[in-house]
Amino acid sequence: MRSKLPDTGTTIFTVMTRMAQQYQAINLSQGFPDFDCPEALRERVAHYLNHRCNQYAPMTGVAQLREQIALKVNDLYGYPADADHEITVTSGATEALFDAIQATVQRDDEVIMFDPAYDSYDPAVRLAGGVPVHIPLTQPDWGIDWQRLRESINPRTRLIIINSPHNPSGSILTRDDLDELADVIRGHDILILSDEVYEHMVFDGQQHESVLCHTELREKSFAVFSFGKTYHATGWKAAYCVAPAALSAEFRKVHQFVTFTSTSFIQFAIADFMRDHAEHHLELPAFYQGKRDTFCKLIETSRFRFTPSAGTYFQCVDYSAISDVPDMEFVRWLCQEKGVATIPLSPFYAQAPDSRIIRFCFCKDDATLQQAAGILNQL
Ligand code: PMP
Ligand code: GLN
Repeated sequence: MRSKLPDTGTTIFTVMTRMAQQYQAINLSQGFPDFDCPEALRERVAHYLNHRCNQYAPMTGVAQLREQIALKVNDLYGYPADADHEITVTSGATEALFDAIQATVQRDDEVIMFDPAYDSYDPAVRLAGGVPVHIPLTQPDWGIDWQRLRESINPRTRLIIINSPHNPSGSILTRDDLDELADVIRGHDILILSDEVYEHMVFDGQQHESVLCHTELREKSFAVFSFGKTYHATGWKAAYCVAPAALSAEFRKVHQFVTFTSTSFIQFAIADFMRDHAEHHLELPAFYQGKRDTFCKLIETSRFRFTPSAGTYFQCVDYSAISDVPDMEFVRWLCQEKGVATIPLSPFYAQAPDSRIIRFCFCKDDATLQQAAGILNQL
């Protein structure tokens, strides 16, 4: 069979989690918490599961969930999104990203993404017949090279994918960055796909700058959010996309034939939880900042070099004082010989630079982080 994705292998998250299981390593690779989601949320799921909410939910998402999302988006970002026409519930942010790309990218259209880029973007663009254009983020601050972006724009450019807070680097975009982006696309037929799944993980008193706060950008943007991150429930694959009505209409044409709809009882449960527990997401920045600080403090005396992340639940570190081998070789050694699984950065690049950086996931119980640090500090 002729492959549609000849250069694509198994995602690095699956590779590393499998390796962690095989070698019984502490898994700081794939991003998921090792603590459970809130009990009150689980109780709501059990309730709806046991009260006949087991058939298809509406294609665009359960109405009360979309209403709760609209309230939240208005509270946080000052945008009164229309729950009926501008919000669509999806089976994970991965699905929302895929739908937005399929809905907008035609054969030979170019899609700009910034490397290191989340690994689903490039294959989704290729499957749509588009051409991924990879622009590396600048080092060491992981910023956008605006000059290079401007030079990459041409009449075939259809979409620019941004991701803030950024996986894997942990950097965030500022209001100035969004203004600059708006300036870059002004007058062009270019849309923005804004991956904001880590919206509640921004630290040190900084704010998450959503495209939804930006009156000019939000007219041209699909903004993607994930309940998996916000409610410590990555396995539920529940997420949503906010986009202007015309864009949402095209998005829904794809969504209805990719999954049609998402798990019904999960949607009812999250709607209740959002209504009754707004404090949950308001407390998340401090909660995850605490995890970041704990982890950074624990590995302070190690030979890894790092700048604490501004956002996400990931911490990138430079391991060049420990080893000079390429990152894939290093993470394999660290997992198989030392018992800590991590994520190399090279799979997030079209052309990986010659750097020695890996990613740790710190959304773990303190005991897990301490156990890992005990190993990391010996290297
Ligand atoms: N985008 C980024 C940047 C991510 O890190 C993730 C993590 N899983 C996703 C999208 C996908 O989210 P979901 O699990 O909701 O599909
Ligand atoms: N987003 C998660 C991470 O970056 C993993 C998601 C996945 O396994 N597909 O680790």
